[in-house]
Amino acid sequence: MLERQVSNFGNNVCFTPAVYAEPRDEAELLDLLRTHKDLKVRVIASGHAWSDAIKTDGLLINVKHFNDVRVSPQDDTVHVGAGCQIKGLAEVLSKQGKSLPTSGLIDEQTVAGATATGTHGSGKNSLSQYIRSVRVAHFDQETGAPKVSTIRGPSVELSAARCSLGLLGVIVEVEMEIRPAYNVLEFSARYQTLEQVLALESEYPLQQFYLMPWSWHWFGQHRTETTQPRSKLAALYRIYWHLGIDWALHLIIFVLVRIMRVKGLIRSFFKSVLPLVVVKNWRVVDNSQKMLTMDHDIFRHIEIEVFVRRADLKKALEHVKQIIQVFGGQAVSSDLQQKIPESSHGIYQHHYPICIRRVLADETLVSMTSPVNENDLQDWYAISLICFEKPTRRQGFFGFANFLALYMADHFHARSHWGKYNPLGRDANQQLYPRLDEFRSVVQKFDPESRFANEWLTNVLLSNQTSHAASTGTR
Ligand SMILES: Cc1cc2nc3c(=O)[nH]c(=O)nc-3n(C[C@H](O)[C@H](O)[C@H](O)COP(=O)(O)OP(=O)(O)OC[C@H]3O[C@@H](n4cnc5c(N)ncnc54)[C@H](O)[C@@H]3O)c2cc1C
Repeated sequence: MLERQVSNFGNNVCFTPAVYAEPRDEAELLDLLRTHKDLKVRVIASGHAWSDAIKTDGLLINVKHFNDVRVSPQDDTVHVGAGCQIKGLAEVLSKQGKSLPTSGLIDEQTVAGATATGTHGSGKNSLSQYIRSVRVAHFDQETGAPKVSTIRGPSVELSAARCSLGLLGVIVEVEMEIRPAYNVLEFSARYQTLEQVLALESEYPLQQFYLMPWSWHWFGQHRTETTQPRSKLAALYRIYWHLGIDWALHLIIFVLVRIMRVKGLIRSFFKSVLPLVVVKNWRVVDNSQKMLTMDHDIFRHIEIEVFVRRADLKKALEHVKQIIQVFGGQAVSSDLQQKIPESSHGIYQHHYPICIRRVLADETLVSMTSPVNENDLQDWYAISLICFEKPTRRQGFFGFANFLALYMADHFHARSHWGKYNPLGRDANQQLYPRLDEFRSVVQKFDPESRFANEWLTNVLLSNQTSHAASTGTR
């Protein structure tokens, strides 16, 4: 057991838990829960969440030793230890000709950490949806003693456990669906309108696309599963992505934002330089895991992501654009100009392509793409906004993100990603997640004394009290 200061990937959440522990097996884990019966408990995995999800002044548990992988090829499932990183799991699966059904932009997260916040890629459900059963260490409702239970479905408990934010207890193992390994065909192209990008969605269902700030044109990264073999130039394409995008593009943005700090240069870069240097219409086929991920974590940054339904996408993106313009100091003709306090005009210069990904509705209770009601299974679109400012200069971003999240929640029922900067308060979440009361009942069953909750989650999710909390996150 160690005492240590903990910080997350984005360096916006820093704290010192009373006790930090890395149990080696379930017996040690149960012992810890028994010994520290007066402490609140949270779990840390790879620490990639930007929200306060991992924060505690009690017992912080790291389950990195729980990383066994047992593949059952005959029924296309895998039992995987909660602390196994996605990349480790993907590697084992690939050796057996298998793959995960979907993947986020990076694969550094652990299986339990990624699913606990509804981590997603594009064109499929979130990873949480593919969980078939969960083994979780929690407290017995009758005796209060720690124990390990397996949650299976279909059941309301499994719907809660698929995306639980760690509130049901310490997940030790999950059983997930897997599928045969597959290749993905990808090419990129530039467009003038959203309709042009969306028109290719049925042919390229795994596509993601970008709204380029300041030039306001669209950039589609079109992707589809294919039976074609790996392209001869796939290795070259990987080098182009790694050196050209993961390193060079990010380095340029990093220098413009953190060192040069000239508004006009950032805008000119997006208007005039970027469109010329990004390679267009190069069609390449490669293994899905390689194609769907990138080294997006080389430069530390912070991100907010809001989810809107398909019917609201066009209007929501128009409003995101105008909010960026006003926070960047540009005048817009709509009433957003008046709705944003004048003191905020010009305080934040957005400086990264706005990534938009389609995510299908999940059978979960509180993941960002859980259905609004049984009859509304519309797809969701995740709109992500990334900031490369250093941690001490993020006030402008926080002002922008706080306004954006609340405005989008009010106007478009937009939900904020639990694993990214999430400033929504309890009242907004109560409106946004119709099955929140069911989620609270399941949490109560597995954790009758709220030992696994922290202050943030109690305030924004578990509390029945009306609050005016508008923002979370350590600045
Ligand atoms: C560079 C970068 C890229 C990203 N790309 C994407 C993306 O493409 N798509 C997307 O949706 N998200 C993305 N994210 C967000 C990220 O996937 C989530 O924040 C995810 O939750 C982080 O997983 P982690 O393993 O680091 O968990 P942590 O950040 O350590 O923890 C996250 C939550 O999971 C809980 N938890 C972890 N393990 C357990 C366990 N064993 N039992 C109970 N609770 C547990 C923690 O208590 C906490 O509440 C990205 C983040 C970064 C930094």
